[in-house]
Amino acid sequence: MRGVVMYSAGDVRVEDREDPTIIDPTDAVIRLTATCICGSDLWPYRGIEPADHQVMGHEYVGVVEEVGDEVTTIKPGDFVVGSFVISDNTCEICRAGFQSKCVHAEFVAQIGTQAEKARIPYADGTLVATPGEPDADLVPALLAASDVLGTGWFAADAAQAGPGKTVAVVGDGAVGLMAILAAKHLGAERIIAMSRHPERQKLARHYGATDIVTERGDEGVARIKELTGGLGAHSVVEAVGTQESFMQAVGATRGGGHLGYVGVNYDVTIPGIQLFFAGIHTLGGPAPVRRYLPELIRMIWDRTIDPGLVFDLTLPLERAAEGYQAMDERRATKVLLTL
Ligand SMILES: [Zn+2]
Repeated sequence: MRGVVMYSAGDVRVEDREDPTIIDPTDAVIRLTATCICGSDLWPYRGIEPADHQVMGHEYVGVVEEVGDEVTTIKPGDFVVGSFVISDNTCEICRAGFQSKCVHAEFVAQIGTQAEKARIPYADGTLVATPGEPDADLVPALLAASDVLGTGWFAADAAQAGPGKTVAVVGDGAVGLMAILAAKHLGAERIIAMSRHPERQKLARHYGATDIVTERGDEGVARIKELTGGLGAHSVVEAVGTQESFMQAVGATRGGGHLGYVGVNYDVTIPGIQLFFAGIHTLGGPAPVRRYLPELIRMIWDRTIDPGLVFDLTLPLERAAEGYQAMDERRATKVLLTL
């Protein structure tokens, strides 16, 4: 099969990889219908994470080709969406709704779904079948559920976005935009998008943002305070992962408010004393997408939500390198790769 391999920072190639097969009786092998490039794939691309001939990709939708003997909830021919973290969905952590911290958790990035096929361990606990074969226009939306939608949803949920709440979203990348969509769906009264890019502001408004704040850092915090009677937002989503964005999110959260943080933060140092005196609830980390998948698939299927608009560039898998470049140069928010 063909698949993406990152030789080193900035060097992305599509080459022949070994076809996956069933190894454990809980595995499934799927043939991908579509995959995509994530903001987090830019970390190795930019040399922030090491990259040495590694397979890439952790978002995926596709058709099941083969299942192991112990797989019961999906079968060959099913169209499936899976989380970017493998989970058994039966352990105590999974049953509490934190499937991304499953005792059998494994990052799908190690499997590399920017490829024609993938072996998915714990298929019953990781994959969810759609009600049937999706219309072609639903494929991008279902693919978004695999990570960015599920992650944005978790962030909005962790921030307790809901009726009567003012929600501030730090970050206008795909996850930030999906958090806006989620906050709107969860009934938030006011949604403030922190964004400087006209195109993304437009999409933020489409997904439910009522206010746009272009200031960053302390100025951004001051602007949020100004918009909320000096109190700060009830709910804040952090979807970037830099020192400035994280502290901006902490500062924008009112006392007793909730911060949901999902930006992968490599070099962020949180001053304990600042967090202490903030007096806020915080919940974040790799999103337990599997918890939300059945509901997200239903809403996409019913056309209640349309997360697919976050993809603003579509390329064939063979041209993946161009997709990485476009995202690195911020010419694209999120790149869908067709197979
Ligand atoms: Zn588990």
